[in-house]
Formats: sequence, C-alpha cells, structure tokens
Amino acid sequence: MKPQVIVVGSFVQDLTWNCANFPQAGETIIGTFSTGPGGKGSNQAVAAGRAGAATLFIGAVGKDTFAGGARAFYKAEKIGARFIEKPAHATGTAAILVSESGQNEIVVALGANAHLSKADLPAKLFAGAQVVVAQLESNLAATAHALKSARAAGATAVLNPAPMRADFNPAILKHADILIPNETEFTALVNLLPITGIKDFTESQLSALGDDDIHALARTFGPRVVIVTLGKRGCLVSQESGYTFIASHKVKAIDTTGAGDAFVGGFTAGLVKFKGDFLAAARFGTVVAALSVTKRGTAPAMPHAREIAAFLKKK
Ligand code: AMP
Repeated sequence: MKPQVIVVGSFVQDLTWNCANFPQAGETIIGTFSTGPGGKGSNQAVAAGRAGAATLFIGAVGKDTFAGGARAFYKAEKIGARFIEKPAHATGTAAILVSESGQNEIVVALGANAHLSKADLPAKLFAGAQVVVAQLESNLAATAHALKSARAAGATAVLNPAPMRADFNPAILKHADILIPNETEFTALVNLLPITGIKDFTESQLSALGDDDIHALARTFGPRVVIVTLGKRGCLVSQESGYTFIASHKVKAIDTTGAGDAFVGGFTAGLVKFKGDFLAAARFGTVVAALSVTKRGTAPAMPHAREIAAFLKKK
C-alpha cells in the first residue's frame, strides 16, 4: 500500500537500567535492565501506524544486532520501514538510567542517524504521500531536504523541532507547513529568531504568558500553522486567522515520556483521516497522546486504532 504518512527520522535502541539511585562517579551499583525500540522518528511512525495511517518510516541504521531488531519490530508491527544501512556506523542507542523516584538520566549516541544523506532520500520516495514529518534527531541537511521534497511532491510538510540543537539552522522553518514545538522548543525558538526581538526568554516566562501572547509569538516563526504543545494543559493551534486552544484529556498518567511523539504521530494520522483539517487532527493527536501516557514506555505505549475508537466512544 502507498504510504499516506512518511516519517523521516531517527531510530534509536533504548537501553534502560532501573536503579534505586543514580550511581556516583566511580561507583558500581546493581540494577535491572530492559530494552526496546525508540528514537523520536520511530516513535512517531509507530504512533501514526497504530492510529490507522498507512505509514512509512525512513531512517538510517548500522549493520548490527540492533538494526536486525529494528527490522523485526517493524515487521511485527506491520508498519512500513525503509532502513538505510550505514555499515561504518552503529545503530543509534540511548543509555537511560531511571531511578526509583522516577527521574532519568539519558545519553543518546545518534550513530547512523547522523549520517542519513540527501542521496538516501530520492524525490520518488515522496510521490503520493499526504504528510511528511521530520524531527531534529537525524542529519539536519537530510531533514531539510526531506521537507523540501515533501512539498515538491504536494505533501504537507510537518516539522517537530525536537530535540532543539546548538547547530539548528532556522532556515529549515521555511520548508515546514506545520511546526509542532513543545514548551522547551518554543522557548528556544523565541530566543533564537531575531524577529521576536526577545533574548533570555525562559520556560517559566512562557508558562506565565496568556494564550494571545503565545499565539503572537508563534506567528513570527514562519510556518502557516504552529501547534505549541503545553504538556498536560493541552495545545494551542495558531494560524493566520487566529488560534484555538485544545485542552488535554484527564487521564491517569503513569509515564509521560513519549507524549510529544504520540501527539505528533497521532496528529499526522489525523491529518490523513480528516483530510487536512488540522484542528480535527490536533484533537485526534490529543487523544492519542492522552492514551499513551496511561501506559509505561514510549513505542509500546502508543495506542492502536481500536483503543482510540473505544476512548472516543466513551467521551
Ligand atoms: P508535551 O510534549 O509534554 O507538550 O505533550 C504533548 C501532548 O501530550 C500535550 O499537548 C497533551 O495533549 C498530551 N499530554 C501530555 N501530558 C499529558 C497528561 N499528563 N495527561 C494527558 N495528556 C497529556
């Protein structure tokens, strides 16, 4: 089946150690271990695919055991994947320490993801796609090229500027139709873009702002639609004609890691389902994100279409 949603981004093998407390420098402690598929791009592809969109994930991996695991995972999920092999580099990995109190410490090695290239993304890949979504956890030149190619193919180009990086070039914003920053990324963009005229803006200043002010700042970013996700508050959808605030759903949150990825993946699936209606898509993304926080983990916590339908029926 031709993909409706194409996600160009990162695959990272999550390696997670649970421990009572974080070890001090030089200390060795005993903990427990689990592993699973991760990476912002991959998590978003899983969210979009499980939510019902014909999805293709495109990302770079090494020639190693973790790449084999990635292929097997996508096969089991029945989600399309094009893994571009970079034999000279390792598959991306994340070392995650989680303490008993629920705090985490993470080191990510992008590995092969940093070596995705424009040549890996020929124009024909994007033909017929409705939505192409990218993040900043992969090679940045290839990411900008993917958004440009998406537009040239008539698809809607969506950028989730996560994680914000020191080498971020704001020129990429002109290739995005829809931008989806969270509070951290929104704050960084306000400081980075000269047009806002603001420096040293902080997240606590953002939380004190009214929705009118958030909308006014979002209007300076460039993309025609900017969706600012605001954690458990919900999100603000800003477009030229005005803004709409969408409150999150009240659920029993167990693990909010990956909520942003669930929102973005759900949103892109919603864009297909609701034929480009981005407000309907943002409401759908809000449901997908709410359901994802009720389960532990990232990719495994993404809800399937039947769970989304059951939740909406109860509403
Ligand atoms: P964030 O990346 O933290 O801004 O979260 C993305 C989206 O996930 C938000 O816009 C909400 O729709 C949803 N979300 C995050 N945290 C929660 C929560 N505790 N309960 C319900 N929905 C949440």
